Amino acid sequence: MIRLEHVTKVYGKGKNTTPALSDLDLSIEKGEIFGVIGHSGAGKSTLIRCINLLERPTSGHIWIDGVDLTKLGKGALQARRRKIGMIFQHFNLLSSATVYDNIAFPLRLAKTPEKNIRTRVDELLKLVGLEAHAQKYPAQLSGGQKQRVGIARALSSDPDVLLCDEATSALDPQTTDSILKLLLDINQRFNLTIVLITHEMNVIQSICDRVAVIHQGGIVEQGPVAEVFLKP
Ligand code: ADP
Ligand code: ADP
Repeated sequence: MIRLEHVTKVYGKGKNTTPALSDLDLSIEKGEIFGVIGHSGAGKSTLIRCINLLERPTSGHIWIDGVDLTKLGKGALQARRRKIGMIFQHFNLLSSATVYDNIAFPLRLAKTPEKNIRTRVDELLKLVGLEAHAQKYPAQLSGGQKQRVGIARALSSDPDVLLCDEATSALDPQTTDSILKLLLDINQRFNLTIVLITHEMNVIQSICDRVAVIHQGGIVEQGPVAEVFLKP
């Protein structure tokens, strides 16, 4: 469902360039939880930003559901981006908006009628277990609760893919487990494809089906988690 072919990304111009991805091939199936692991600077953020259309690759192709993203114009890109949900290490919530309004935000941008927004947000609050917190502000929530808001917001427009960029790196181990459990539950219930970028091995081992190891902008190994990382 997601396929990258010969993707290269070089930042900057002239003499001042930084290679971030080099000739990278990757293929992720529908309904899979796919992990990408690598050290800082390996190219993980760049990879996720290319899949999310925030960066254009310098060369190569990226297909999602048979559509070559590198060939889309501005309007089509925007529409496509709405079908990709994303969650972040530091949650990226609007601090002056309530939990409800944070989750409603993408739907309001898409000019969804308020009545439909209410139904959808109530459904999402229930899914992530925050029904009792709808009128709170992010500062009143724990880290795990903030990430639950992030997940609900990412799912609001019913995406085809959920991209997780170091989504549990700011959380303690117990909270990490509860967020991973929620992601697994969402994956199984909706057959949602999840791509998870992390530097934490335990995250990969607890929920991913397959993993790719990225190093200096290239995939050095990939396959089922149990094969790539033999459990002791
Ligand atoms: P990771 O997420 O694995 O830490 P990144 O994708 O952020 O890796 O970075 C890969 C390489 O690209 C690094 O050398 C980084 O410094 C460089 N890089 C990332 N973003 C930019 C940018 N916007 N401009 C210039 N260089 C960048
Ligand atoms: P992280 O991957 O932990 O989020 P990074 O340092 O990789 O942190 O990236 C933070 C932001 O800075 C990203 O938007 C990335 O694209 C940008 N960035 C990273 N390295 C560089 C760089 N060398 N020059 C300019 N921007 C960079």
